[in-house]
Parts: sequence; C-alpha cells; structure tokens
Amino acid sequence: LYNTLQELRGNIRVFCRIRPIFNEEGKCTIDYIGNDGSLMVIDPFKPQNTCKIFQFNKVFGPTATQDEVYKDTQALIRSVMDGYNVCIFAYGQTGSGKTHTMCGPSNGSSKDIGINYMALNDLFQISSIREDNRTLEIRSCSNNVWLSLPDANMHLVQSTADVLNLMKLGEKNRTFGSTAMNHRSSRSHSVLTVHVHGKDISGGAIHSCLHLVDLAGSERVDKSEATGDRLKEAQHINKSLSCLGDVITALAQKNSHIPYRNSKLTQLLQNSLGGNAKMLMFAHVSPEADSYGETISTLKFAQRASTV
Ligand code: ADP
Ligand code: MG
Repeated sequence: LYNTLQELRGNIRVFCRIRPIFNEEGKCTIDYIGNDGSLMVIDPFKPQNTCKIFQFNKVFGPTATQDEVYKDTQALIRSVMDGYNVCIFAYGQTGSGKTHTMCGPSNGSSKDIGINYMALNDLFQISSIREDNRTLEIRSCSNNVWLSLPDANMHLVQSTADVLNLMKLGEKNRTFGSTAMNHRSSRSHSVLTVHVHGKDISGGAIHSCLHLVDLAGSERVDKSEATGDRLKEAQHINKSLSCLGDVITALAQKNSHIPYRNSKLTQLLQNSLGGNAKMLMFAHVSPEADSYGETISTLKFAQRASTV
C-alpha cells in the first residue's frame, strides 16, 4: 500500500466515469471501455469509425457501482490520516453524474450513497481505531497556507451524521438556477473540506485536509442559453474552471509560478493542488450523441490533468 501511495504523490490520478444512457434508443458515443483505463469515443456526426482514444488510470462504465468506485478511492482517503492533503474533484458537464458520484443519487435515496459519505465514515472509523500506539507519518507541505474564508464557519464534528447535516445546510445555501440544460442545474461549486488533526509519535501536531469537490457544470455557456444574471454567474464559474485548468497546466509543465491566486476556487484548494498533495479527478461524461462535443472537451481536460 505504501508504494502505491508513494506513486500517487504529487500526481493527479484521473478516473473517467460514464453514466448510463438515458434514452435507450439514442445513439451512444462510447464505443469501447478497456480494463486498462482506455476509452474509445465515436464521433456521431462523422462517417463510421471516426473515433478518438483516451487513456486514464481507470474507466468506470455505466454499470459500475458506487462501491466499486469507492474501492479505488479508499487508499487516497486513508492517506489523509497519514498527514497528506488530498483533493478529490468531480468535473464534467451538467447532468453527467458529478453529484451522483460525490453525494449520491438525485432522488436522495440512501441506497447508492456517494464518496463523501463513505469517505467520512472511513475517516471516523480509522480515527476511533487509531489510538496513540499508531504511527502517523508526517509530510511537509510546500504550500501549507491555510486560506481563511471570512464568511466560513468551522464546525467540530463527531460523526458522519454531523457532517451530513452540515452539508444539507450548505446545499440550501447553494444557488440553483434553472437553465435549458438541466432544471436543477447547479451553477456553483460545492466544496466539503475536512481538517484532520493528529499527533505523530513524538507528540508533534500534524494537520492535513481532505477536499471533496463537486464542481459546477463545465458546459459552454451558449449551449445552456443562460441569460442576464445567470449568464454573468455562468461566465464567472467558467472563469474559475478555466483557472483550475491553468493551475493544472502550470503544474503539468512544472512551471515555477503556479497561478493559484487567479480564482477563489484555486486559492481555496491551493494546499491540495501540487506539492506533496494527492489529487484525484473524476471526469464525468454523458454517453448521448448530443453531448459529444462536451464529452470530448471534458476528456481533453482530463487528459491534460493526467500529465501532472
Ligand atoms: P451532475 O451533478 O453532473 O449535474 P447528476 O449527478 O445530477 O449530474 O446526474 C444526473 C442524473 O443522472 C441524476 O438523476 C443521477 O441520479 C443520474 N445518474 C448519474 N450518474 C449515474 C449512475 N452512474 N448511475 C445511475 N444514475 C446516474
Ligand atoms: Mg450536480
């Protein structure tokens, strides 16, 4: 396990997830999903066999369960207890399954609970098992700056239920605007940050954090026909997503200057992007033919991230 964690250090792992197709008779753009993380996408508007192949760390197809997805995420979550900063984010167009992966199904069913819930359960469980006889490893972090959010409240939590209640409150505060793409289209990012405090064997304090991020939809503004305030908001959101892209590109190119300060989102996630932090990106795609353009742009974004 330690070797796997070493291997993950300072990289972005990219998992692609394809949700089930909604209209069974509709054309599907996904042609092939390989066990090795490869994916073939067919261009529905070009003659047969016009396809693109992508390669990720893993691809989850439409039948993959929440448990299967979490199984491959668990090691990363647990490394937070070893003092690593971890950031997991879900990227993709509206309706592609970001919230499904992070939080669970939109009907609120407790059956297919998402990563947030399973991760918190794991962290609480580990922290209750690990008394002081357990060694916690310390990792120094180059960007160990804790950004203070003037309007944010920090809550001490005892259980997963405490956190879920807080998230419900956060969800209420989140702005929902309806666009042509999706009725309950979420035009905002949702960031759940868990700070973990512990002690190493010599009694020194360690502090690490886990960011669980459900990003706003990555679709181009014109497609969703947003207008007025919604449009302004959408452009603002697209700006923060493009800033995230710039940070990822700068990290991939090993630039000396990483433009964290260009958006609130990247500032907030700074301590978990780059350095010794571990990142996992879920690239979500909708398999329908009319999402082809967005699918390709999501997969290209994800491919760029996988070179970090
Ligand atoms: P997003 O957050 O990217 O806008 P959602 O997570 O809300 O998308 O997903 C859109 C719809 O598709 C929801 O009704 C959700 O429950 C369903 N869905 C998404 N992914 C899956 C999946 N892997 N299996 C079953 N249903 C899914
Ligand atoms: Mg969502």
